[in-house]
Amino acid sequence: MLQTRILPSAANAHQSPLLIKRLLLSGSRYEKTREIVYRDKLRYSYVTFNERVARLANVLTEAGVKAGDTVAVMDWDSHRYLECMFAVPMLGAVLHTINIRLSPEQILYTMNHADDRFVLVNSDFLALYQGIAAQLTTVEKTLLLTDAEDKSADLPNLIGEYESLLASASPSYDFADFDENSVATTFYTTGTTGNPKGVFFTHRQLVLHTLSMATAIGSLDSIRLLGNDDVYMPITPMFHVHAWGVPYVATMLGIKQVYPGRYEPDFLVHLIKTEKATFSHCVPTILQMVLNAPSAQGHDFDGMKVIIGGSALNRALYETAKARGIQLTTAYGMSETCPLISCGYLNEELRKGNEDECITYRIKAGIPVPLAEAAVMDDEGRLLPNDGESQGELVLRTPWLTQGYFREPQKSEELWTHGWLHTGDVATIDDMGFIEIRDRIKDVIKTGGEWISSLELEDLISRHPAVREVAVVGVPDPQWGERPFALLVTRDGQALDAKGVKEHLKPFIEQGHINKWAIPNQIALVTEIPKTSVGKLDKKRIRLDIAQWQEAGSAFLSTL
Ligand code: AMP
Repeated sequence: MLQTRILPSAANAHQSPLLIKRLLLSGSRYEKTREIVYRDKLRYSYVTFNERVARLANVLTEAGVKAGDTVAVMDWDSHRYLECMFAVPMLGAVLHTINIRLSPEQILYTMNHADDRFVLVNSDFLALYQGIAAQLTTVEKTLLLTDAEDKSADLPNLIGEYESLLASASPSYDFADFDENSVATTFYTTGTTGNPKGVFFTHRQLVLHTLSMATAIGSLDSIRLLGNDDVYMPITPMFHVHAWGVPYVATMLGIKQVYPGRYEPDFLVHLIKTEKATFSHCVPTILQMVLNAPSAQGHDFDGMKVIIGGSALNRALYETAKARGIQLTTAYGMSETCPLISCGYLNEELRKGNEDECITYRIKAGIPVPLAEAAVMDDEGRLLPNDGESQGELVLRTPWLTQGYFREPQKSEELWTHGWLHTGDVATIDDMGFIEIRDRIKDVIKTGGEWISSLELEDLISRHPAVREVAVVGVPDPQWGERPFALLVTRDGQALDAKGVKEHLKPFIEQGHINKWAIPNQIALVTEIPKTSVGKLDKKRIRLDIAQWQEAGSAFLSTL
């Protein structure tokens, strides 16, 4: 340890710990009348929002919630969820954002594992909750969230309905200060093997994450995505890494926020139009779903700015969005990282280049945001040069990374091998700091000694005019170990076969982008590609499906 100088504080000096309550204070200071909107059902000002957070804190305290308890929420994206994101941690309790798209068994596992004591349940999930209630080992009380007229529900140990309880609670609450290293939120990763793993974030981490994100997306010249005159609507579920933490940024800045409830593509487009949303964020497949919605046809999204993360952005989607008026900016992160690590940023020199070259950089995973550090590491724990060529595992250090997996000491140690958080992604970093994700380590296709990036192949195949969506995985091959296999959804039922894909890829082989082993010798035309609970390509399911099709000799497989 360095012997630095640490001076004694004045006896009365206040430490102002980095607490989530401090993010809430500023929004209404800037814009008292700015609105928080819930679907076409409710709108209220920031002043009312602050009061409602206090009312909720009173309701929860009355119900017995104490510092250190875990309070879980099962809801679509709503103003109520936003209120929970503040009130629960501000009481010193831990907010568990339940991934309602997991299977009932997985949800049950996460709730018991997280020690949930109180659960707020949306009436849409009553049947699901009732199905697992008897096996919940730690839950003591429930609270109903509903838009319906009927405010009754058959929930065990129900203390009441949210809106009625808030209406009769006091609109003020004196939130105490406490240690900024107290856990504020927890949720479970959507890993495709084994049980979900719990990650957790402290007040200090969430506050620093909020400040860094606000700086990166609000101040850096070539990003400037969010100012406080923007209108924000999430299209990443609030259970997925707190909607990437953006609600905390929006609230700190006093930005108009629109919460869409359950995601229905036409209704999302309706809200974008009527509330004039200018800023959002989502995974690529959800953007595709919104752009394809019937009500989006002919609509000009001009001026809309969207952060794309969670999966690689391909050139075809970047260009499609641009043609529809949407400026896409990439971001990289994961559940373990709170999530923001890097954001697309083109420096002055790059911006002077031609558009084609700029797009090459715009679709990479970006440059680390302030306070974030990224490196690539080899199998022996050595850091590799940032030369844009050396491939290794992307490893991270940043003040807001989960410090482990809840009650999983061994997996926590593995996550933090050599003192860096291991992402499980293969990447390169160039001399400008651009991270390029080559693939998930487990998705790289190993064919005859060559390593092929499934992401790169997806990007190249997506440029074929007939392709609407594509997923590439490696399938076992007796001769080569693995061979690439492409699953395609074509535009308006257009035809494409394995030969057509080969023809399309030929120029990229000639130009040296990929080698000839990258050509899939089998493809399948499907109407839908399986997705995970958060809308990413579900490569585990895809591999299982392909194995079944190959065994059955399905007619829609096209072979070279
Ligand atoms: P999750 O924890 O479910 O949010 O998934 C995190 C994973 O998503 C990362 O480890 C990456 O594999 C992938 N990912 C996130 N952002 C990007 C990006 N911008 N480009 C490529 N892959 C990404």
